[in-house]
Amino acid sequence: MSLPKLLNFIHGELLENKSGQSFDVINPATNEVIYQTEIADDFIKKQAIESAKQGFATWSAMSAVERSRILLKAVALLRERNDDLAKIEVLDTGKPIQEADCVDIETGADVIEYFAGLAPTQLGSQQTVGNDFFYTRKEPLGICAGIGAWNYPLQIACWKSGPALAAGNVLIFKPSEETPRGAVELAKIFIEAGMPAGVFNVVHGAGEVGQWLTTHSDIEKVSFTGEVGTGQKVMQSAASNLKEVTMELGGKSPLIVFDDAEITEAVSAAMLGNFYTQGEVCTNCTRVYVQRSVYDEFIEELKNRTENNIVMGDPLDPNVNLGALISKKHLALVLNYIELGKQQGATVLTGGYQATPESAPNGNFVAPTIFVDCNDDMTIVKEEIFGPVMCVLPFDDEDDVIKRANNTELGLAAGVFSQNIKRAHRVIHQLNAGICWINSYGNSPAEMPVGGYKRSGIGRENGVETLNSYTQTKSIYVGMSQIESPF
Ligand code: NDP
Repeated sequence: MSLPKLLNFIHGELLENKSGQSFDVINPATNEVIYQTEIADDFIKKQAIESAKQGFATWSAMSAVERSRILLKAVALLRERNDDLAKIEVLDTGKPIQEADCVDIETGADVIEYFAGLAPTQLGSQQTVGNDFFYTRKEPLGICAGIGAWNYPLQIACWKSGPALAAGNVLIFKPSEETPRGAVELAKIFIEAGMPAGVFNVVHGAGEVGQWLTTHSDIEKVSFTGEVGTGQKVMQSAASNLKEVTMELGGKSPLIVFDDAEITEAVSAAMLGNFYTQGEVCTNCTRVYVQRSVYDEFIEELKNRTENNIVMGDPLDPNVNLGALISKKHLALVLNYIELGKQQGATVLTGGYQATPESAPNGNFVAPTIFVDCNDDMTIVKEEIFGPVMCVLPFDDEDDVIKRANNTELGLAAGVFSQNIKRAHRVIHQLNAGICWINSYGNSPAEMPVGGYKRSGIGRENGVETLNSYTQTKSIYVGMSQIESPF
């Protein structure tokens, strides 16, 4: 039986490539090939650029209100089709439907809605200088590229297209080859909402297609989500013609639980920040520092809830709350980290093995894993694992835990649990991270800028500043008096 084929989406339609080359997309919960995706060959790449040029001419000439109306129609369609889109995301990513159903599409739609609302409020400025004056215009950059990771495919496509398109740019988006379908569904919705062809094109392929985008001289900006190492390569390529870059990269974030915290709340945060999306979330608090006097109580509740409240299995079952890891390769990587943890002397409190749930025996499952007796030098405490693996570490003193929390090259996120408001703010202000939570973990509304410190990123997504980052300022000086010329 021949498999369904997903094509590149160029200039308002699905377009066949000329080379006939394609790759398999595998359902992580079954390891079966569910469809094939055509690679963006030279023909597709050329068409993508030509189409984007045409799209930009039309889109950038529209008023912000006109663009906003179309984006809002797309938002309504995203919400209307939530359940079907959520299912697509589950089949591509292996994440539980109970998450995708209420988070992935919703938070994507929220961001497009936010930027659609913001676009018409963008103002230039005017200032008088002597008898003359100047004014400024905020103009779009032109053709931008978005490159996405596989953990939140549709949401990432929304988070990148929302601000880019609202500001009048066009976007060529490359989803991860592991999860290419969500972006194409978004492209179809944009067209249905009345967006001109060429404003949002989707090209498929592996790193090579991403690299092509980062070096192409017609592309003005690259917004990238992925690993630190890939981000470095993207920046190097983008430097070839001085493209602007936004980098949303990895993390190894700390959660600090003080002795006056509400322990049940802190345990909820630690579990959400390690086991949601089977641990494949960039902001995860994989280093949980717990003050020694409440350490035993914390560990007991954490172990109990992890062993009793987590249901692994077919991600389409609404009762399942821990899904499958993205690929066999990634599964092996996560299991390797777990072995390293054991070898380096950490103790497995619970989990620590590959799981084969009855409803999805061939999927890439890892039992939710908690390590105790860890120290800050262990590989599992230092490196991003991107799976359901939590390290818990005791601490005694506030200053000391701040130093330990900051002792990493990464700086994506951080959290503090304390009922003492002065302490909570004092500590969070000293943590070197771009996305911080007090008595909460993981919430990321469209209004809040998010991005990393240190090696975790450059620039921000969401919030007002992101719209600005998709514009360039043109200054126009107007002479009202006679030119004084020595010539
Ligand atoms: P990767 O860095 O492996 O890939 C990200 C994207 O870049 C993919 O589309 C990939 O293509 C593409 N790519 C690969 N090589 C190149 C290249 N040389 N030039 C241009 N593009 C290239 O990341 P993962 O997909 O493995 O995602 C997991 C990582 O993403 C984790 O580190 C996680 O922390 C981070 N992340 C960060 C977020 C944030 O907001 N800070 C949010 C989500 C994830 P392909 O996959 O098709 O090979």
